[in-house]
Amino acid sequence: TRVKKATFVKSSPSVKLCPPDRYPEFALIGRSNVGKSSLINCLTEHNGLAKVSKEPGMTKLINHYLINDTWCIVDLPGYGFAKTAGKEARDSWIKFTKDFFISRDNLVHVLLLVDASTPPQQLDMECANWLAECEVPFAFVFTKIDSNKKEGPTCSKNIRAFKQMLAKDWEELPWCFETSSKTGSGKSELLGYLASLRAL
Ligand code: GDP
Repeated sequence: TRVKKATFVKSSPSVKLCPPDRYPEFALIGRSNVGKSSLINCLTEHNGLAKVSKEPGMTKLINHYLINDTWCIVDLPGYGFAKTAGKEARDSWIKFTKDFFISRDNLVHVLLLVDASTPPQQLDMECANWLAECEVPFAFVFTKIDSNKKEGPTCSKNIRAFKQMLAKDWEELPWCFETSSKTGSGKSELLGYLASLRAL
């Protein structure tokens, strides 16, 4: 399951302009700053493949990365940017990503990234419910599990709280992974999961 080769393919401003759907692909989504770029760099062992920034990204681009010449990681725009942007930004994000989910026949699975260093966020719940409504198969990836506060294991507490909130609406939870791009924790499990889905 190791990534031997990872290359940037293209940044596309719309689904129509995405590369041809030749390879099975996995899309990553999550709030801005959730650690999406860091996870892509960690999974591919390719620092600088995806841009890591401290500023929440504003550009709406779909980035394709080709892995081992056989499958793709797709980096979708993050949601929950500026509070001031409000509903309009949210609606435009939904339209943009929905277009992608509906049109990409080669989309195998989505990874919904959730920041384990913060308490459960309503926006992440909404995104999960929205994916389920659209019947998009997805798994949760809790990120930054290394970033515990001095007073104790905050990340595991946050993850537990998130799952408890979900359990109110969901009979069965999707697969959940816990990762740290700092320590590489959870990386092989996640790559193994993606490999098992490709083999289906
Ligand atoms: P993106 O906006 O979702 O692509 O997020 P980035 O990958 O740019 O990361 C946002 C911020 O979170 C950066 O300051 C990263 O250094 C930090 N970060 C990302 N992943 C981790 C992680 O696994 N652990 C910790 N402690 N910080 C992380």
